[in-house]
Amino acid sequence: MNTAGSPDFLQIRSDFPILNQQVHGKALIYFDNAATTQKPQQVIQGITDFYTHYNSNIHRGVHRLSQESTRLYEEARQKVQAFIHARSEKEIVFTAGATASINAVATSFGDSFLSQGDEILLSQMEHHANIVPWQIVANRKGCSIKVIPMNDAGELLLEQLDSLLTEKTKIVAVSQVSNSLGTINPVKEIIEKAHQQGIPVLIDGSQAIQHQEINVTELDCDFYVFSGHKIYAPTGIGVLYGKERWLEKLPPYQGGGDMIDHVSFEKTTYNQLPFKFEAGTMNFVGAHALGLALDYVSAIGMKSIMEREANLLQYATSQLQQIEGTRIIGTASQKASVLSFVMDQIHQYDIGMVLDKMGVALRTGTHCNEPVMNYFGIDGTVRASFAFYNTEDEINIFIRGIEKVKLMFG
Ligand code: PMP
Repeated sequence: MNTAGSPDFLQIRSDFPILNQQVHGKALIYFDNAATTQKPQQVIQGITDFYTHYNSNIHRGVHRLSQESTRLYEEARQKVQAFIHARSEKEIVFTAGATASINAVATSFGDSFLSQGDEILLSQMEHHANIVPWQIVANRKGCSIKVIPMNDAGELLLEQLDSLLTEKTKIVAVSQVSNSLGTINPVKEIIEKAHQQGIPVLIDGSQAIQHQEINVTELDCDFYVFSGHKIYAPTGIGVLYGKERWLEKLPPYQGGGDMIDHVSFEKTTYNQLPFKFEAGTMNFVGAHALGLALDYVSAIGMKSIMEREANLLQYATSQLQQIEGTRIIGTASQKASVLSFVMDQIHQYDIGMVLDKMGVALRTGTHCNEPVMNYFGIDGTVRASFAFYNTEDEINIFIRGIEKVKLMFG
């Protein structure tokens, strides 16, 4: 905390060892946080400690180490439950990530609740991870995909929702925040409208969980998914939140150890929630590390993180807007700290390469959002995405880099 009572983000930045290095002889400026976030020492150390002191398979051992690792794994589940304000631990399923979570719902829900002629409603700005699993199940079941359109600012046209939600719609799946545009979608309104017609809603929280407070109970979504690596935890761990009554109804997605109650060659009965959806040896170290990451951001405070990132976005946006020939893609009134843009006559890869030489890590391309790129008639953008550990000084260097690109290629 500084004297004004807000967190000292420069001090906090020193928790991230990777940021303290040079790339091409320049201080690393990491603006690729929407792709994955860096890990604080507290999380890195937690992983080392786990392997040093507790490593043992969970749920299956009477011995001390197994009890300890099981305790840490289940504590992590409680931390996730508290963090997203779920009603019960039974509603928190660990997965490999958001993609795995969406595939689990698409497959399991699809098997039980979709049939020929049904419709699945997505939005124009979905990540491929929230399109392709639904297409696979739609093809299998003879369903069709419908899309909530958006405007040129990258805002969903909610006035079309009423006509898109029909008696054929069986599920709605939308992202809370767009990874390429930064748009914060009014998901509560979408959920309310869908529920008026008894339609369940899956929220892809991959780009929201790290930026704002999430309360799944208040949102009243039926499913909520996210990946650990987007919120300062390792890769290979993620979460599927599902309302208990939905998870009770859905069949298991994968079979294997731990998700069963009893197995015989004639008949198998399944374990209770949430274990019914956790087949095989889970990434228990990753789950523990996710719990530590949630402790870490909670100690800073999600409100402070949100304010800090809003300031960074506002500053970067205002600076970039002053450079003639740049066009921001994604100008919604409500945005998370994602700044996508294109430059007249200059290819995104050239921009990315020049910036890389200056130590600035940006993402270029379609960001797994081809339908968004098609909408804007472009083949990609440059995307700068900020986390609370970024600074205005870094944005200044990035802006100087863009000016340099303009001189070189413009
Ligand atoms: N949805 C959105 C909006 C995302 O940004 C991402 C990651 N880029 C995903 C889903 C998929 O996440 P993961 O690759 O971690 O499973």
